[in-house]
Amino acid sequence: MVEQREQDQFPPALRLHQLGVGYWVSQALYVTAKLGVADALAEGPRPAREIARDVDAHPDALHRLLRALASVDIFTEVEPGCFGLTPMGELLRGDVPGSMRALALTMELDWAAWEHLLYSVHTGRNAFERVHGEGFFAHLRRHPEKAAVFDEAMTGFVTAHGMAVAATYDFAPFGTVVDVGGGHGALMQAILSQQPHLRGVLFDQPAVIAGAEASLRRQGLDARCQCIGGDFFSAVPSGGDAYVLGSVLHDWDDEACLRILRNCRDAMPAHAKLLVIEMVIPEGDAPFFGKLLDLQMLVSFGGRERTATEYNKLLAGAGFRMLSVVQTQVPPSVIEAEPI
Ligand code: SAH
Repeated sequence: MVEQREQDQFPPALRLHQLGVGYWVSQALYVTAKLGVADALAEGPRPAREIARDVDAHPDALHRLLRALASVDIFTEVEPGCFGLTPMGELLRGDVPGSMRALALTMELDWAAWEHLLYSVHTGRNAFERVHGEGFFAHLRRHPEKAAVFDEAMTGFVTAHGMAVAATYDFAPFGTVVDVGGGHGALMQAILSQQPHLRGVLFDQPAVIAGAEASLRRQGLDARCQCIGGDFFSAVPSGGDAYVLGSVLHDWDDEACLRILRNCRDAMPAHAKLLVIEMVIPEGDAPFFGKLLDLQMLVSFGGRERTATEYNKLLAGAGFRMLSVVQTQVPPSVIEAEPI
């Protein structure tokens, strides 16, 4: 594999080319996940032709896929023609904790809209809606098989970040935490595991909540966590000491965010805290994953990532005072606010 340091020293034309063809890697990861190649390597390294037989692929083409992805640290060629998994490759298996396989499969949800980034940049509008004739979540409600991939992908995404959030932010002072738009409950599980005294309320759309209940049962956390289905544009459950909005506000424009925030404000007791978990965009041009995620929000959701100043303004508009922005070890921060 070419070391990052070496790549940084390539002339600008080469670096530009390598950046420009990033979608080659995206598609190669997608195909790997779709075929279940990493799952076929769960027991250890195997010859490419054997894997090809198991996953129903063309032996030479699969060998080339494995070789290409070995050059970006997904597989490792342990002897000629024989490939094993690296730590990143392990996460493409479907059955490991924190699996990222579903995240690689979201190509099926995102690809068509990303073809129209040009439209989004011309108009500032959501390309997903243009392609599918409806918003992202409305589309998922009509396509349960796509919703299953998205919910699992979010679980992978939040497992990668959730432990860091639960470890950095001190949930100890609270009795009940309400996770609004909590998906399948990966963050809730991380928080409840860290704080044995805490109780949880997980709130999401009814179809999503159905999947969350099974996942909480598997973790033995169902007795400590109540699952409630509903619509956060109508109302959210009342009576919590902390309200979490994790990767929710970035899906929506300011007007929709204000509706969600005001519903949280209405449901919260005066002493409760609001915790917004998002990738807060830093000043300047430093590398930051949230700046790319922001484009995904533009294209697929009509939402956006925001700066601390923008969150401050949004929160104030819904009757909150922003107290602090707590940086975690991973890109998302915890923005703490209280009702005014
Ligand atoms: N908090 C989770 C999931 C973020 S994805 C995490 O950090 O990974 C955004 C979530 O908002 C999804 O689970 C989606 O089902 C939920 N959502 C979207 N529209 C909603 C609505 N109208 N009411 C309640 N939840 C909604």
